[in-house]
Amino acid sequence: MICEDKEVLASMIEEARTYTGYGQLADYIPALREADPSVLSLAIYDGGETCAAVGNVDETFTLQSISKVLSLALALMDQGEEEVFSRVGMEPTGDPFNSIIKLETNQPNKPLNPMINAGALAVTSMISGETPDHKLGRLLTFIHELTGNPEIRYDEKVAESELKTAHLNRSLSYFMKQHGVFDDDVEDLLDLYTKQCAIEVSCQDLAKIGYVIANEGKHVFSKRPIIPLHIARILKTFMVTCGMYNASGEFAIRVGIPAKSGVSGGIMASIPHGLGIGIYGPALDDRGNSIAGMKLLESLSHRYDLSIF
Ligand code: GLU
Repeated sequence: MICEDKEVLASMIEEARTYTGYGQLADYIPALREADPSVLSLAIYDGGETCAAVGNVDETFTLQSISKVLSLALALMDQGEEEVFSRVGMEPTGDPFNSIIKLETNQPNKPLNPMINAGALAVTSMISGETPDHKLGRLLTFIHELTGNPEIRYDEKVAESELKTAHLNRSLSYFMKQHGVFDDDVEDLLDLYTKQCAIEVSCQDLAKIGYVIANEGKHVFSKRPIIPLHIARILKTFMVTCGMYNASGEFAIRVGIPAKSGVSGGIMASIPHGLGIGIYGPALDDRGNSIAGMKLLESLSHRYDLSIF
C-alpha cells in the first residue's frame, strides 16, 4: 500500500526537491514572494485514520486556484448545472489562467471554463449568501466538512496583498459585468474571491479534500454525501481538462491523474475511487505549476501505476 511506503515516499520527495531550484515563486501577488522556494511536501490519504505525509509537512499555504474547484462545487449545489453553465463554459483553453483574450473573441462573451480566472470570478458570483461574509462563511464551512478540520481560515495578509494588486481580475470582472455574465458589485466580488483564494491549508488538508472528490463526494467516515455524485464527476472532469493551466494536456499524458494546482504551489489530486493527494512546493514552472510537485506526481504515477487512462 502506497500510504505505508513512507521510506520510498521520503526518497521520492528528496529526488523531486532537486527541481525546486529551477522554479520561481509567483510574484504578482506580493505576499507569495515570502515563501521558501526549497519547500516540498506530500500527503496521501486513503480514507484511513491517518494521512501519510512526508517532506515539509508542517508548512501551510493558500489554496489560490485550487479554491476554484470548491467554489464550483458550492455554486453547482446552490444554483444547479443549467444556471452555472449558462454563465460559464465547459471548454479548455490553451491560454494562461488570467488571459482576457477569449472573453472578447468568444461569443457570447462568457468565460470558457470555471478553472481560469474569468470563469472562477463568475462562479464565485453564484455562491448563495446574503452578504460577501455569509458567502465566504459558507465556503469555509464546506471546507471544514471536507477536511474534518474546523480550524481552517483565510490568510488576511495574502488576501489583502492580492486585492491591492488584482488589476487584471478587476478588468476581467468589469468586462463580464458589462456583458451581463453577473451583476455583482465588482469590489465586493473581488474581496470575496481574494479571500477564497487565500484560504490556508496544509498538504494533509488538500489530500483529504482530494479524497472526498475522488470517492464520489462522500464523507470519509459517515459516507454521507457532502458533494452530490454528479457534481463530484464534473469537478474531476474539469481537473483533467483544465486543472493544470495550459499544461493540462501534457499533464494528462505524463501523469494521467485529475488534479488542480494553484500559484501558491499547491496541487490537489483525486484518483477516482482511490487516493487523495496534496502537494505543496512553491517554486513554479513557467506555466504556474509547482515544478517539483509536477515531477513528484509524475514519479508517483509511474511507480504506483496511478494513471486513470
Ligand atoms: N488568486 C489567484 C489569481 O486570481 C489565483 C490564480 C491561480 O492560482 O492560478 O490570480
